[in-house]
Amino acid sequence: MARTDNHTWTSTKDVAATALGVAAVRAAETRNEDPLIRDPLAKLFVEAAGQNVWSMVTSGAAYDELRSADPELAASMQASLDHIATRTKFFDEFVLAAADAGIRQVVILAAGLDTRAWRLPWPDAITVYELDQPEVLEFKLATLREGEALPAATHVEVPVDLRDDWPQALLRAGFDVTAPAAWLVEGLLPFLSVASQDLLFERVHELSAPNSRVAAEALDGEFLKPGSVARHRARLQRMRTAAATLAELSDVTELWDLSEDRADVADWLRERGWHGSVLTAAQLLARHDRSAPAGLADATPPSLLVTARLDTGDDRQSG
Ligand code: SAM
Repeated sequence: MARTDNHTWTSTKDVAATALGVAAVRAAETRNEDPLIRDPLAKLFVEAAGQNVWSMVTSGAAYDELRSADPELAASMQASLDHIATRTKFFDEFVLAAADAGIRQVVILAAGLDTRAWRLPWPDAITVYELDQPEVLEFKLATLREGEALPAATHVEVPVDLRDDWPQALLRAGFDVTAPAAWLVEGLLPFLSVASQDLLFERVHELSAPNSRVAAEALDGEFLKPGSVARHRARLQRMRTAAATLAELSDVTELWDLSEDRADVADWLRERGWHGSVLTAAQLLARHDRSAPAGLADATPPSLLVTARLDTGDDRQSG
C-alpha cells in the first residue's frame, strides 16, 4: 500500500488533510520570485500525496485558471494564499525571537506538515516537540526521510490526539516543566470544540514556566456573525464551478466547530498572567504589503494572531 493510500487528501471530512492544504500553499509561496518564506520541503508532501487539487495549487495552475475565469475570485484565492504565507512568517519570527531570548524548548501543537524543525536557522541545543495525530506525523516523517531531510534542531515527535492526555505524552517525551517553552498553536483552534480549546490552554498554562511564550491563531468572532459563513461557502462553490482544477477544493470550515462563541484567547491568557498583543489577519497582510485589493468583500481570513509571554514571579509581585 502506498504511504498515502490511507488518506483522502482532499476530503472535507478528514482533518489530517488540512495539513496538506497548508503545505501546498507554502510550496506555492516558495516558488514565487520573491517569496516571503522559503519552505523547500513542503513540495515533497505535495508530490507524495499525488496529483490532486493541492498539487494544482502548488503549481499555480489553479490560480491561473481561476484568474482567466473570474479575476475577482482569483483575488479572493490570492488573499487566502497570502494569509498562509504571512502567518507562516509570523510564527517563524515568533519562534526564532523566543530562541534568541534563550528559550530552548519549542512545542508545536498540531504541527501538521510544518517543517520549522528542519528549515529554520536554530541556535544550538533547541528541542522541537511536534504533536499531531499519529497518521499525520507518520506520513510527514516518512516523506522527509525519503527526501533525506535532516532536522536542524533536536526533533521529538509526540503522536497524540490533542483532545486526549497530551501533557503526559509530552512529559514522557522529555519536556521540562521547569524551563520556559515557546508554544505554537497555528491553524488548530477552530477544529476543537470550545471546551477542548479551553482545556488546551489550561494545559499549556499548567506546563509553562515563567517567561514561556505562546503564539496562537484564534478564530475572529466576527466570522460567526450572520451571513459570513454562508458567504464564504458560496464563494468556494463559485470557485469550484469556475475552475476545473478547483473542483475538489475542500472547505476547511466544514471541519470547524462554529456552534458556540469562544473565549477571547488574549483575554484568557491575560487573566492568567500572560501579556502580549493581537494582530488581525488584515493587519498582518498589510505589514507585508500583501493586503487584498480594496473593496474585495470578505477577503481576509477570519484569524487573529495572538502572542503572549508569561510573567516571571517578579513581574507578578510588582504587577
Ligand atoms: N500547524 C500546521 C500548519 O500550520 O501547517 C498544521 C495546520 S492544519 C490546518 C491542522 C492540523 O491540526 C492537522 O495537522 C490536524 O491533524 C491537526 N489536528 C486537528 N485536530 C487535532 C486533534 N484533535 N489532535 C491532534 N491534531 C489535530
